[in-house]
Amino acid sequence: MSEPDFAAAHKALPPVVCYPPETLQTPDLALYAEARASAQKTAEVLVPPRDAKCFEVPAGSFFRISSVEGSQVGDLNVHNLHDLTERHWSGKTRALHGTHVTTGERLWSLFPQMRPMATVTTDTLDWYGIDEHGGSVHDVIGTRCDPYTNHALSGGQYHHCCHSNLTRSLAEYMGVSRDEAEPLVHDVVNVFMCTGFTRDTGQYFMKASPVRPGDYIEFFAEIDLLGNLSACPGGDCSTSHSSDAAQCHPLLVEVFTPADGTLNGWSPAQPNGYDRSHGS
Ligand SMILES: [Zn+2]
Repeated sequence: MSEPDFAAAHKALPPVVCYPPETLQTPDLALYAEARASAQKTAEVLVPPRDAKCFEVPAGSFFRISSVEGSQVGDLNVHNLHDLTERHWSGKTRALHGTHVTTGERLWSLFPQMRPMATVTTDTLDWYGIDEHGGSVHDVIGTRCDPYTNHALSGGQYHHCCHSNLTRSLAEYMGVSRDEAEPLVHDVVNVFMCTGFTRDTGQYFMKASPVRPGDYIEFFAEIDLLGNLSACPGGDCSTSHSSDAAQCHPLLVEVFTPADGTLNGWSPAQPNGYDRSHGS
């Protein structure tokens, strides 16, 4: 098709941010930091390579995901502990905060609750920013590696993609079949993964994660949470995934609970205030 007369002028229009987040209630990071200073470790889970584990986080506690032993990407699911159908909505998090999350940004749940489930309080990879290819760390754009896409692309039957790992661990946690658990597995936060969209074709790309042992991302739980974390078969996701080819390492999850009285003025996030009548 030939371009219309106004093409050049139209393409030059400045972008308008769809959802300026300035009017969202901002987390009190100073209060969280004060509470974190007194927090004690109350739980610890080591997620084996090419596998996933569930962990519970009480509202008002922190959970930290750390790189141990080697560079490794994690695929994170987050549910309301008391209603697993309320779960993280990567699309809304992306619309509000951008393609990658870092300190001060939040993970939002599905409609109708649509509330902040967790807030990023520390990110040791925040120095990475956005590189010359448009890549950044901790994306909410990839869905998760999965055996269906792998089959469509290669015809294989690989069983340790993050989708399958998350399905197995959730089924085990719930005490239900994998068929029952699978629909609750959802689009992830790609913890430590370095990704973006190619500038020329808009395709999803990955490059080696900059994460090193000792690096971590820490979240504050705004409601009681069930986390489910997979140590991706892609390892540092520098070359391939959905196979056993990459070198993989475990990921450490630690839960820290603050002392009583250190979160004065804070209360768990309430469901969204829209009245749900949808007009006449
Ligand atoms: Zn994966």
